Amino acid sequence: MTENKDPNEAAIADRVARLVRAERTGVLPLRIWPDEALKSAAAPVNAEELGDQLKAIVDRMLSTMYMTGGVGLAGPQVGYMKRVFVMDSDPRGRKPRVFINPVIDKASPVMLSQIEGCLSFPGLRQSVQRPAQVIVTYIDENFQAQRDVMAGLEARIAQHEIEHLDGKTFLDSMTPNQRAYALREITRARKKDAVRGRSSSIKKEAVKAAKKSQRRRR
Ligand SMILES: [Zn+2]
Repeated sequence: MTENKDPNEAAIADRVARLVRAERTGVLPLRIWPDEALKSAAAPVNAEELGDQLKAIVDRMLSTMYMTGGVGLAGPQVGYMKRVFVMDSDPRGRKPRVFINPVIDKASPVMLSQIEGCLSFPGLRQSVQRPAQVIVTYIDENFQAQRDVMAGLEARIAQHEIEHLDGKTFLDSMTPNQRAYALREITRARKKDAVRGRSSSIKKEAVKAAKKSQRRRR
């Protein structure tokens, strides 16, 4: 998930520090909607999979999240089809958290609407209504079982990421009108990209042709 905020100077400095950290551990390529990985449910992590290999993947997921400026990232978003997500709701990026096999045990009846973004939907921002509080059980980065009451941004991130683990996205939590608008925005952005790609290749061709004729003139 991404936040809908303009970065200030301190946030930019923090992002640079995170970039340095990220480059050391390696970043994974992001799956962009409508990639199939974002439409398939992830499998639970088995007890025998709780080991160094999982720790390495989780580290790379955190790096990828920091590198791309996200506050949450789920396995399927990097093609890792296991029930794992990472998050950092701290504005300075100093509170990395890992959730293995997370389950929402309880959700508050109070609903809250807030703008969300998603690393798998570049540029898209949409208001999504979700329970304000949730109780989540999970296994943490030290492979210990945990049960947390979550509210605010943490509750929102957890619900957004668990949705990814179920093969869904925030599109599924939008009202039909919001979803229709979001899909129109995605199509529009894609068309713009295609036109931009085409015009830049036309430009490149023109530059090449100009250089050739210049050479000929000489
Ligand atoms: Zn997302």
